[in-house]
Amino acid sequence: MNILLLGSGGRESAFAWKMSHSPLCSQLFIAPGNGGTGAYGKNINLNINNFEAVKALVLKENIELVVVGPEEPLVNGIHDFFAEDESLSKIPVIGPKKEGAILEGSKDFSKQFMARHGIPTASSRSFTAKTLEEGLTYLQSHPLPVVLKADGLASGKGVLIIDNAEEAQEELKLMLSGKFGDAGTTVVIEEFLSGIELSVFVLTDGENYVILPEAKDYKRIGQADTGLNTGGMGSVSPVPFANKAFLDEVERDIIIPTVNGLKKDKINYTGFIFFGLIKVNEKPFVIEYNCRMGDPETESVVPRIENDLVELFMATAKKKLKDYKLNISPKNAATVMIVAGGYPGEYEKGKAITGIDNVRQSLVFHAGTALEGGVVKTNGGRVIAISSLQDSQFEALQSATADAARIYFDGKYFREDIGFDLV
Ligand code: AMP
Repeated sequence: MNILLLGSGGRESAFAWKMSHSPLCSQLFIAPGNGGTGAYGKNINLNINNFEAVKALVLKENIELVVVGPEEPLVNGIHDFFAEDESLSKIPVIGPKKEGAILEGSKDFSKQFMARHGIPTASSRSFTAKTLEEGLTYLQSHPLPVVLKADGLASGKGVLIIDNAEEAQEELKLMLSGKFGDAGTTVVIEEFLSGIELSVFVLTDGENYVILPEAKDYKRIGQADTGLNTGGMGSVSPVPFANKAFLDEVERDIIIPTVNGLKKDKINYTGFIFFGLIKVNEKPFVIEYNCRMGDPETESVVPRIENDLVELFMATAKKKLKDYKLNISPKNAATVMIVAGGYPGEYEKGKAITGIDNVRQSLVFHAGTALEGGVVKTNGGRVIAISSLQDSQFEALQSATADAARIYFDGKYFREDIGFDLV
């Protein structure tokens, strides 16, 4: 079948790599793709939030399956657009409709959802400009630190952890007067949870689900997890501090109530649910839901999935995940992200990348790259993900880190400590 994958990051490179190995995949199109995805299929340069342009491509190339990588088209309703269009409605889309993507699109909604279905999470209250005074009073006696979250999508920047009540009040005023645009029309004020974070992923057909390998990502730019937050500087899978008993608890207390909660709320959800979790005193709590896979977690998760990914997506689309047997490699995966100098602040693009052929023991997943006249150049903040799958976590970390050192471009930076805190 002809397949269309939407997105352009390292996550999509990992999906494209894996799907291109499927005997079910005759032709893979990646829109817009990046400087590396052309190795797995055909890149098509289009704006994935322009659904009419996506439709034209789907009809022209007889696409029979659409896989949506990032959250934005999902929150904007790409799956609804397909379902409501006669010429597209039979084409399966992996990724929820708007009513499901709102789990990520609105933190206020997701907090209410968790409260309604008894899913463990930090206690919280939401405020708007109308209830600003109540919010300011609420903050006066709130334990510190306190977490302020813009309700809507804010490119990962809408969460502030503040350890001073006056500062928190000032921030609440700023957020409610437009600091994050429409994303901050509602602000969630949340209890701070102290613990260690990990990510758990499921793929659900709305009735049943499969649990994918869990992962841990590293968000800060600096070694030893210091400095500014980024989209993610690396990841590992499996996660040593998530043993079977803990993961069973995650399934019982979080995954099952979430999938059942969606059903009870009559939300017909097809696609990934990403559970951003925190382990506090051995118990799992939900920090956030996402309606797609994580990046750079996908680059560590996908290499551990031994099943045919296209077959798995089709089983999801056809609601056949009941009794689906997922085969997960017992090996360890580690991903190191190579980024542009200056990222997550300002950075330059267009730097020629060398040394990709010198990578020995890892997979190279392009992210912010572009192919210009046969030369691979940087084209984003997070440039290339290096993922290694090895027998031990230590070997995986060593080879991913060593291979990241083999790639070069002007201003290149990567963290040399990804995962070493865990081994
Ligand atoms: P979110 O966008 O909700 O995932 O928040 C971004 C990051 O902020 C999370 O990955 C956590 O590191 C941190 N964070 C969010 N909410 C909390 C909380 N209630 N307690 C502690 N840390 C939090």
